[in-house]
Amino acid sequence: MHVVPPALERLIKELSRFPGIGEKTATRLALYILRKPASDASRLAEALSDLHASIQLCSNCYTFSETDPCDICSDQRRRDDLVCVVEEPGDLLAIEKTGVYRGVYHILHGALSPMDGIGPEELKIKELLGRVKSSSIKEVVLATSSTVPGEATASYLADILQRMNMNTTRLACGIPMGMDIKYADMHTLGRAIETRQSLG
Ligand SMILES: [Zn+2]
Repeated sequence: MHVVPPALERLIKELSRFPGIGEKTATRLALYILRKPASDASRLAEALSDLHASIQLCSNCYTFSETDPCDICSDQRRRDDLVCVVEEPGDLLAIEKTGVYRGVYHILHGALSPMDGIGPEELKIKELLGRVKSSSIKEVVLATSSTVPGEATASYLADILQRMNMNTTRLACGIPMGMDIKYADMHTLGRAIETRQSLG
């Protein structure tokens, strides 16, 4: 005998895999979906299955995009000689919200964390260095978070980029140590970009 019908249990199991969602929240969400009309559930299922079909990584900056190159890389009004390096697409969105940055981006898809088995090979570092070598980039802004992995990534990259004689800057004041930049308030983050400091 199943206390929870297997179909419901399956949904609870899938939902509880999401970050920050435990079994309790997953159960509440699953029951909510079940109580709503079947058409609502179908719309949600359709949105989920379309996601991977319509979104890919931009082959230049590696953000998620429906087009390749993405809208930011193909925007002629942006400076393509200024590249801001971030850990995740969510960090790009946070910087875009400040409205002060007019360059392009490079998404690493993580930060160096040897304890978790994340080395340079696991990140889009080779791709970043390829961009730096092959295009007319004048400045690389290291906007990784001020967490331990974020700082380790910034100093690893600063080292290599400076050996390539690349002008390298790091986000300046205002971002507290240990903070993920996604959670910094918009004004603080905007100011940190404007007052970025040279690492050379
Ligand atoms: Zn792009």
